[in-house]
Amino acid sequence: MTGSESTVASTKDTQIAFIGLGNMGGPMAKNLLKQGFEVTVYDLSPSAITELKEAGANIAESPKMAATHAQVVITMLPAGQQVKEIYLTQNLLASLAANTLIIDCSTIAAADAKEVAQQAQHYSLDFLDAPVSGGTAGAMAGTLTFIVGGEKVAFERAKPILAAMGKNIFHAGGHGAGQVAKICNNMLLGILMSGTAEALNLGIKNGLDAATLSNIMLQSSGRNWTLEVYNPYPGVMDNAPASRGYSGGFMSAHMHKDLHLALQTAADTGVEVPMGQQATMLYDEHINAFAKLDFSSIMARFIPEVVDE
Ligand code: NAD
Repeated sequence: MTGSESTVASTKDTQIAFIGLGNMGGPMAKNLLKQGFEVTVYDLSPSAITELKEAGANIAESPKMAATHAQVVITMLPAGQQVKEIYLTQNLLASLAANTLIIDCSTIAAADAKEVAQQAQHYSLDFLDAPVSGGTAGAMAGTLTFIVGGEKVAFERAKPILAAMGKNIFHAGGHGAGQVAKICNNMLLGILMSGTAEALNLGIKNGLDAATLSNIMLQSSGRNWTLEVYNPYPGVMDNAPASRGYSGGFMSAHMHKDLHLALQTAADTGVEVPMGQQATMLYDEHINAFAKLDFSSIMARFIPEVVDE
């Protein structure tokens, strides 16, 4: 039996432990604070912790200390390795009170999410995989999309918390379903970003202006999310990472990780993903030099001068 019977109060006396305060987790935790939740944070990075302390969070020196009084634990970590390290190797699960709700927002393999969920059940804890879409802008604005896998009753418990950080909250299915939906989305995003960079390069090399071509494609059938809000060519869109040296945003290393998660899922289930394979090949090369730059820096594959080396 899990703790599904108990509810997480939508009132603001819910205590939340938040672990992983990077480009996404930092602004997400700040939005919880703004909504009046009591939040205790932990990260390996002292500067990330200081920023959250200034925003009103309690700080802790370990994941276990952060979760001491928590009814809800949220993690926003780079990859499955760190998620498993904290919940399983450090065994945070064993130190949580029964009925604690765990919401892992990191993008990780569905198999890893299922493994942690199974162990959580063993300790009578509710676990949800709840990866997000919407980027750092969505994290800051509190307009993220949450794609949730897990039991429906746990999903209902989580909704008031997720609503403080996001706008669209989907229940994709059982444990791991949130991660499967998320990697389908990100495989498509990797394809769209690479394709958009390729098309822009073709136009530019044939004498077109990047902004003019972008606007034409935006109003034509090539329209897609990257052209709408995340143009990969510097200077076309003031608030896109391309216009600030590809800093912040969604690291190429993370896109590379997500494409490989998609390919692994496809291989495990005998599904063909030829376009996903092409995009993965591009990011395989790209991360050798540009792992930490935003994923739109794939533009440099075609026009190297767009990044300052
Ligand atoms: P990030 O690298 O900026 O942040 C990760 C944070 O986790 C860092 O602050 C790091 O210090 C911390 N961390 C790492 N290991 C830790 C540990 N063992 N204990 C405590 N803290 C630890 O990454 P991000 O961009 O915030 O992405 C986080 C997750 O969200 C990833 O899985 C990514 O794929 C996913 N995601 C990112 C975006 C985006 O636009 N950045 C969008 C959707 C999903």
